[in-house]
Amino acid sequence: MPGRPKERGVQSGRSSWHTVFKVPVYPTPEQAELMEKTFGCCRYLWNHMLSDVQEFYAATDVHYLPTPARYKKGAPFLKEVDSQALCAVHQSLRKAYLDFFRNPKVFQYPKPKTKKARKESFTVYSRPYHTGPSIRLTDAGLQMPKLGLLRVRLYRKPLHWWSLRSVTITKTKTGKYFCSITFGYETKTPEPVSPTPERTVGLNYSMARFYVDSNGDSPELPPQMAAAREKLARMQSRLSRMQRGSKNYEAQLQRVRLQYEHIANQRRDFAHQQSRRIANAWDAVCVRSADLNAMARQLQGGNVLDAGFGMFRTFLRYKLERQGKQYIDVDPYAPAAKTCHACGGVNGQLPPRARTWVCPHCGAQLIRDENTARNIRDLGLADLSRRSGAA
Ligand SMILES: [Zn+2]
Repeated sequence: MPGRPKERGVQSGRSSWHTVFKVPVYPTPEQAELMEKTFGCCRYLWNHMLSDVQEFYAATDVHYLPTPARYKKGAPFLKEVDSQALCAVHQSLRKAYLDFFRNPKVFQYPKPKTKKARKESFTVYSRPYHTGPSIRLTDAGLQMPKLGLLRVRLYRKPLHWWSLRSVTITKTKTGKYFCSITFGYETKTPEPVSPTPERTVGLNYSMARFYVDSNGDSPELPPQMAAAREKLARMQSRLSRMQRGSKNYEAQLQRVRLQYEHIANQRRDFAHQQSRRIANAWDAVCVRSADLNAMARQLQGGNVLDAGFGMFRTFLRYKLERQGKQYIDVDPYAPAAKTCHACGGVNGQLPPRARTWVCPHCGAQLIRDENTARNIRDLGLADLSRRSGAA
């Protein structure tokens, strides 16, 4: 997944980007053993740092994050794994705290990691040594410190001017190993596109239709997504009738996990296709930023499309920005649903589930989702002209 431009230390007229390849990796038994050790060490370090921060804070009212080196004396097994992986734990815990302090409404307070987590992972950053970078991708495979040469399967080759920045090794609950290889590179900053109202679209999230745009259009939902979810439900109900801990139960549990993975992959593919289509078709896209209700629904595991929409938003933003186009965040609490697009009057009496309504001020017949999407577009355009007026 490519990322947003970072402006630090980049020549003017050029932006820096990154791209991630996530590919299967096939470790030897020895490599798998070292990976398991590294997962464990990273978890150990994260949890100990976290509790030390909390103890230190309780005693002094100051947040202080100790360095990994401090832990090696009490836990010599930490020396057996790549110290770069331990440094990365320190960095990600530091980031988790910074995110939480800056935006406690969105980011949770860092939590301890358990062995039962959805997946295990560790990250190693490549270091420039005088003998060359510490991580190298060659025709033979991925050369990593401590782990040695890893057998990976690449679906495409990185371009020759990309530089390898980091590798994250993960293991899923179903026992598959993956590595995410992050490459950084600089390119010419795209010419900014100035959007016109005709070339701007508003999208309203819809639980049933993924989104409805300001022209009333929605994406086609692939039938295999619904079929995969129905299959999962059947598999889960079978699982619930089995004897917990029995051999059959374990086999069925593995099938359920594989089906979960399959659904997550479908959802990501769908988010990629839809964001690509929209980013190519329009010059500016207005979307409401995530509101707390949607996040609460997601935490409850509620609607299946919710999680996909957050991902879609992220993909859409970078796909637009890479073309010099605009992604416009609209305030999720602006009364977009209750405002009549035709006259601007607000209908305070609008029932929450009404799909169509008649404006009490001008008599316009309105389709709820489409009207909301038009208001989102107009709110976004107003925001854009305010910003360009101020500049
Ligand atoms: Zn009206």
